[in-house]
Formats: sequence, structure tokens, C-alpha cells
Amino acid sequence: MSNIDAIPFVDLKAQYASLKDEMDREIATVITNTDFIKGPTLAAFEAAFAERLGVAAGAVIGCANGTASVTLALRGAGVKPGDEVILPSHTFFATVESVVNVGAVPVFVDIRASDYTLDPEAVEAALTEKTSAILPVHIYGTPCDMGKLQAICASHDLALIEDCAQAHLAQWDGQTVSTIGDAAGFSFYPGKNLGAYGDAGATIVRDKNAAENIRRYVDHGRTGKYESAMIGDNLRMDTLQAKVLSVKLPHLPNWTQARRDIAARYDTRLQAAGFKVITPDAKAKAVYHLYIVEVANRDEVQAALKAQGIATGVHYPIPCHQQPAMKTAEHRVSGSLAVTEQIVENILSLPVFPELTEAQQDRVISCFLEVAKPTA
Ligand SMILES: *Cc1c(COP(=O)(O)O)cnc(C)c1O
Repeated sequence: MSNIDAIPFVDLKAQYASLKDEMDREIATVITNTDFIKGPTLAAFEAAFAERLGVAAGAVIGCANGTASVTLALRGAGVKPGDEVILPSHTFFATVESVVNVGAVPVFVDIRASDYTLDPEAVEAALTEKTSAILPVHIYGTPCDMGKLQAICASHDLALIEDCAQAHLAQWDGQTVSTIGDAAGFSFYPGKNLGAYGDAGATIVRDKNAAENIRRYVDHGRTGKYESAMIGDNLRMDTLQAKVLSVKLPHLPNWTQARRDIAARYDTRLQAAGFKVITPDAKAKAVYHLYIVEVANRDEVQAALKAQGIATGVHYPIPCHQQPAMKTAEHRVSGSLAVTEQIVENILSLPVFPELTEAQQDRVISCFLEVAKPTA
């Protein structure tokens, strides 16, 4: 199989090639200035990201990675040890770790079959006196039903925390996700829609005092160079990563549009052939971090595409409540997780990244349609 024909799952090299001159120059500036920790470069990224999202400048706090960002969002929203936090089992395991790492108890509920996002009815059924927060995950870049979740939080006085690790610039009802709940977390893992050159993340905390508290927490609770007002941690974002992200951020809207165009093309062809694809809510504007289709014969399809040089993935093969780690970690499963447990057998992720050409998209579709069998 020749390299020219191979279609990777993501192509970070193509993106770097498109930015190389500016990126190399900007990274060199950070190194020349030995501007490695905090400083104006980090503040500039936080301000630029805040402006893109539409939140106050002080609401964005750069941090070490996406997992920390969600943990910090829970902390910023006041989630305490022993509280129950309701979340989907169908997510990357980091979402669960963030709950456990603040000492709270994860309560797993099911997702909707139409868009694989947190089911508001299942959330309502899972509420107890101990519930303090709801943690929706905009999985694959598909916004959850924030209208219904906001209503539940308002009537039960709960915090709403958004896991936006896969959903940069996604919108619900005209509002950018991460600006709807009380707090949110973003990952800038290299393969995410906005990716650093290593680990990085950002926490969004909308309450001004809580945001200042979290900004202090990620930097040893510091109030002075050698004065700490509380026990914090070192969870800062590297300044080099802030520079990388600042170079990339202006391109994010175009990259997002490219992902939407690819997804629209896949949707049309695959739905016409009878395959089940994600149907986002009418109020949701998705950003397609991943493109998911259900197939009856997944192993066969993956092997056939691999033989053609086309990479695919499964996100994710084990529901969180069934992870070996949960055998010893305190948690609760509320109601039936039938949708969660059923889709893991059939979900397949096809390549979707901004640089994927139309010819490559067509080849993915035609190779897929040659072997794949619909679930319905
Ligand atoms: C990637 C991801 C995270 C964690 O981000 P890291 O930067 O890898 O720590 C959390 N939640 C979801 C849904 C993710 O996809």
C-alpha cells in the first residue's frame, strides 16, 4: 500500500505544514525571551479564547490539560467531597476521573439514541438529596440539550458544568458551549479541534470570585511569590503551549467549518444508504471532533478499510461504568444504560479533520459502503 493512498485518522503534520513559518517564528520568540511560565503570552491566549467564546476575560484560566480543566470546573462550581455528580457513562474516562478527583461520587445515566448526549429524563430520575451538579459532555462535538438541563439545574439549585473537551465553538441555541453552564473544561490535547503541541487545557468559570479562586489554585494558591493563601496545586498551562494555541486560534472557525462540511457529506451519503448517523438537536450546532456511524459488522469494516490504508477508530469501546477502575471506585448507576451499552457494539469513527480532501472523503465513503452493513 503506498503512502499517497493512506488516509490517517487525523493528520497533524498537514496542519503544521500550513502554519510552519509563523509557528516556528512564534515558538522561537518564547524561547528567546525564556518566557516559559505564566507571563503576558499566557494572558494573551486566555483573553483571545475568552473573546472567541464570549465570556469575560477573567473567566478563562489556562491549565495543564483537559482532565484538570474539568476537575477545576467542578471545584470552581463548588462541588465538594461526598456530593453526587450526574454524568453520562458514554464519555472518555477523564470525565469520570475529574469527578472522583474532587472527592465527589459519579452517578452514571444513559444517553439519547438520536445524538448520544446526556438524556435529561434520565438525569431527572437520578436526582437525590446529595446531587450537587450535572456534568454534560458535548461528546464528539455534539451539544447536549442545554435548555432542558438548565431547567433541571434551576429548579433543583444544582451546578451545571460542561465538558467541552471535544466541542470547541459548538453552539446550543446560538450560544457557544462553555458559556451556558456555571463552569466548563476544555482540552487542547494535540488531536482535539484546537490542539497544543503537548498537553494543555482551559477552565471556564463564570462567577468572578470563583474564577479568581481557581486562577490562584492552579498556581499553588499563591497571593505573592512565596505566599500561599490556600492549598492549591501546580496545574498551570505552559507558556509555550499558550503561544502554539494563540497561533492556531484564529484558524479555528475555518477548521470547524471544514469539519462540518465533511460531516454533511458523510451524512448525506451514509443516510441514503440506510446507516444510522448522529442527528443533533435542531438547536445544536455540532463541531464534529469525531464522525460516528453505526455498523452491524464493525470488525469486518475496520479490517477492510485498514487494508485500503484507511484508519478508523472506536470511541469508546468500554462504557465508563463498566471500566475495571470502577470496581473499586465509589459510584452509582441510575436506571437502565441500554443505549450506552448497545451502541458500543456498533459505533465506528471515520476520519474527519480539516485537511481531509474531497477525494479522500469519497474514498472513505466508497470503501465503507462496499463492506458495511446498516444496524437498522
Ligand atoms: C480529551 C478529553 C478529556 C481530557 O482531556 P486531556 O487533555 O486528555 O486531559 C476530557 N473529557 C473528554 C470528553 C475528552 O475527550
